[in-house]
Amino acid sequence: MYTSGMRDLIRKLLADLGEDPDREGLVDTPKRVEASLKFLTSGYRAEVDKVINNALFTVDYSEMVIVKDIDFFSMCEHHLLPFFGKCHIAYIPNTKVIGLSKIPRLVDVFSRRLQVQERLTNQIAQTIEEKIQPVGVAVVMEATHLCMAMRGVEKQRSFAVTSAMLGAFRNSSRTRMEFLELINQRPAMMGGMLPVTGMHPVEE
Ligand SMILES: [Zn+2]
Repeated sequence: MYTSGMRDLIRKLLADLGEDPDREGLVDTPKRVEASLKFLTSGYRAEVDKVINNALFTVDYSEMVIVKDIDFFSMCEHHLLPFFGKCHIAYIPNTKVIGLSKIPRLVDVFSRRLQVQERLTNQIAQTIEEKIQPVGVAVVMEATHLCMAMRGVEKQRSFAVTSAMLGAFRNSSRTRMEFLELINQRPAMMGGMLPVTGMHPVEE
């Protein structure tokens, strides 16, 4: 999938930016960037089932399971710049649970791709729904986008907040509020599907 063609492209990119790809500091840059991009997009080659399948357990437990403050790092597909922040996940089991340690790995599978935050949020929620058919699943992601912060677009410290609420979290405001309180969200966010605030511009 990756060939030396990628290094040639990066070398060309450096030259197009006005750099000298042969100067000492840049000689190995194409190799490093290729390795870096390969890692940052390794989610395309990861298999969700391999990540979680040996960690699905049948249990007699029907209370809300919450994993909060999961760090994630992803790449904005519009600018190829990082966006990163915290992800909070909750679900109410029906008959199955996912091993807790697998949940951050699931976030990595979808974060390590070119993404928009809304799709990333939905993919995580839908995957949990598909794999364990819970009573409900909720995912909230709060992120800083470097394409906004570094380019001085809008407020540099603004966060983009996205959420996906499925099943009981969509249908029951009480369940949703319990989750949002537990992750210390602000009252303004308790109205259901949360507004996406300060998303980066798509054009440009
Ligand atoms: Zn962007």
